[in-house]
Amino acid sequence: MKVKSHHLFLIYIFFFGCSEIDDSKIDEDEPGAKKSLHSKSIQILDAFGRDINNKSIKLVDWEGYLANPSIELTIKNHHKSKLKVHLTTNSSFAYFNLPSTISENRSYKLIQFLSSDEFKKFKIGLYPDSNSINEKLKLTIKIESKDKAISFFSIPIEIYDQDKGEEKYNFEIRADYSMDSRNFLDEPIKRNAIQKALNSWAYFIDGSEFQITSKEQEKTWVWIDKNFLKGRVIPNVQEFSGFLLYVYGYYNSEIRAAGESTEYSGFQRNSNNEMLKLRKSGSVSFDIRGNWDKSGWYYLLDEEDWWKIENFSGEQKDLFSVALHEVGHAIGFNKSYPEFKKMLQQGFVISPQIQSYFKGAIEIDQKTEHFSDQIDPESGNGLFGNHFGGEMPRKRWLITKSDLLILQAVGYKLKEFDYLKKFKVEYPSKIEIVRSQEIRFTPKIAGGIPGYLFEISKGVLPDGIRINSFTGVIFGKTEKRGTFQIEVKAQDHSVNKHSDSVNIIIVVK
Ligand SMILES: [Zn+2]
Repeated sequence: MKVKSHHLFLIYIFFFGCSEIDDSKIDEDEPGAKKSLHSKSIQILDAFGRDINNKSIKLVDWEGYLANPSIELTIKNHHKSKLKVHLTTNSSFAYFNLPSTISENRSYKLIQFLSSDEFKKFKIGLYPDSNSINEKLKLTIKIESKDKAISFFSIPIEIYDQDKGEEKYNFEIRADYSMDSRNFLDEPIKRNAIQKALNSWAYFIDGSEFQITSKEQEKTWVWIDKNFLKGRVIPNVQEFSGFLLYVYGYYNSEIRAAGESTEYSGFQRNSNNEMLKLRKSGSVSFDIRGNWDKSGWYYLLDEEDWWKIENFSGEQKDLFSVALHEVGHAIGFNKSYPEFKKMLQQGFVISPQIQSYFKGAIEIDQKTEHFSDQIDPESGNGLFGNHFGGEMPRKRWLITKSDLLILQAVGYKLKEFDYLKKFKVEYPSKIEIVRSQEIRFTPKIAGGIPGYLFEISKGVLPDGIRINSFTGVIFGKTEKRGTFQIEVKAQDHSVNKHSDSVNIIIVVK
């Protein structure tokens, strides 16, 4: 993402009310952190009730083109009358839960308080980009009181980008345009949009075990009839590894796109020649005139423009969004896949991974093969087929973590990603320190959603040694010799409130 450089604007803080600075929180700061000099009319609280007015908001950009987790924050109004709180970010990539708006380099949400001491929650999320830069953004909180007095302050937004910059694949979804007899997809710009959709899915899948399919060993169904009644079966003219996808434009009576594999398609085999319950080919077709109406297609793929896409009726439809959806059907969300067929029959999908992430079964609409009305817990986005139903802005469509876990239940092996790991915090099990010497130990964190809470859950730290509750850094110096056994408990900012505990022995010599 590009971050527009704004002029540094002055931070005006009028003195509303007389709430005092909460010094107890500032104690946790590492040396050098500055105390706020102003009293506050509102407080922004994290999931653990900590004031973050003078801290930062941490957002993670998960690896791959995936709906990122959003985090929930709370605003507490200490003001004595009605208040309007205008939340603005300086990027279209950092956005708020609905109702909210997005425009060029800006996202906005209005929260209204009718009385003091009220709490209101909001969510802040991050649209994925493909770079690996940890952008620094900011949230500006503008407070408008009943008498129109205005003050504002900003909280930095730190982004932890897990993208690697260079994308490596071990599963290919290969586009074959030979059936595109009407030349709908001749333009490179359209093929870029299709390729981006194919890559988006392929990136998550580990296909390293799949065998190569030799020439004419695979048969694929493509439509020839405008009512989706008749098709024909075509052989592959070249060998391929991974998944072969015929992509083409045509006219159909429903003016819509379609994506599927079929029972004519063979099954993937692994290196031991065992048959897997995964298909090897499929097709995705687009009506040349548009999707569900004749408004045509939008196929520019500038990452910055993601928020301009609505996919509403009467508007051009985003070729990338629709391709992403139809490819999802072709590679897994289709009755031609034995495991998906079972899920359709029972009306839901469940697996140990889904149970722990989704906290229950995910319902499937048997007719559409969509996860209608289902919302991804961490991102707040709608699942596959519920692109207009999430609690976050409904723009260019995205794959959610829930969709990946369903693909896993269909039979795919997913590549290893931080967000598929269990939340884990690591410190050295034994820390030996010398009396009067400054120490600093930073934990390693895996599988969590940033905005952590660290606390000593058992035992006590030596006098003078402290733990930063936000970073988990153990720091300071002590004059006291001895052996100290402590347990550090860490919690992440996810809706599922993951936690981990670590035992540490501190020996002061
Ligand atoms: Zn669909």
